[in-house]
Amino acid sequence: MAQFAVIGLGRFGSAASLELMKMGHSVLGVDINSKVVDKYADQLTRAVIADVTDKAAVDELGLDNYDVVLIAIGDDIQASLVCVVHLKAVNVNKIWVKAISHAQHLILSKLGVDRIIHPEEEMGIRVAQMLSYPMVNDYISLGNGEFVVEITASERLDDISIGEVLRTNNDVVEVLLIKRKSQILVRPADDFILQAKDILVLFGPLNILRTIAPKLI
Ligand code: ATP
Ligand code: ATP
Ligand code: CA
Repeated sequence: MAQFAVIGLGRFGSAASLELMKMGHSVLGVDINSKVVDKYADQLTRAVIADVTDKAAVDELGLDNYDVVLIAIGDDIQASLVCVVHLKAVNVNKIWVKAISHAQHLILSKLGVDRIIHPEEEMGIRVAQMLSYPMVNDYISLGNGEFVVEITASERLDDISIGEVLRTNNDVVEVLLIKRKSQILVRPADDFILQAKDILVLFGPLNILRTIAPKLI
């Protein structure tokens, strides 16, 4: 269990906070707006009204005790940047910031934060991937063009072995696991017989996964 602080409980910050709570972490939510704080007070470990552009208010929050502080203030770029400066002064472990403009990104990278998030661009890319590969339920990019993808097997794959589908042209794709109802089968062999609705988690280079994905649906 990790300790997180989320500053700004708008749609982005509140969604991140509630998901972290669901995952069993401790979350301090901070917002300047008392109505917003009231709304989430019961659902977070702690919720505090504070203006994070005020240095004294930031000092009082004791944010150096948290693993990561996520700044989720959107529209007020100036408030978000001033908050970063205050967090830097109290030696916060890790700072993640939601950014909305290139200028803000540039300043944040000069200030040296740990991660800059662009939700609109990142979500736009994910939606494009989902539109282009509707068979892919979910994916993780590992960098260097390598991906982990989750695919649900169609009726067509009922009674067919993994080898028959994946080993036709020296494909370098690994089946990491198969989920069948509540059962998880780790690293199934090539002679493993698939059933429709099996969920396959595959690892490999994107160009090869692209050729394989259509065979699975
Ligand atoms: P989202 O884009 O996530 O939906 P939003 O558009 O409702 O959020 P934003 O302007 O992005 O609102 O701000 C997110 C939250 O940050 C708001 O709830 C706002 O009250 C809070 N906030 C803004 N300035 C400060 C500040 N100086 N200190 C603390 N919280 C702040
Ligand atoms: P984002 O939230 O993705 O950063 P934005 O906040 O810059 O986008 P939005 O108001 O969400 O702008 O609109 C996205 C785009 O849709 C804009 O480029 C806008 O010009 C365009 N758009 C808005 N209304 C219409 C319309 N009626 N017909 C066609 N395009 C439109
Ligand atoms: Ca906003």
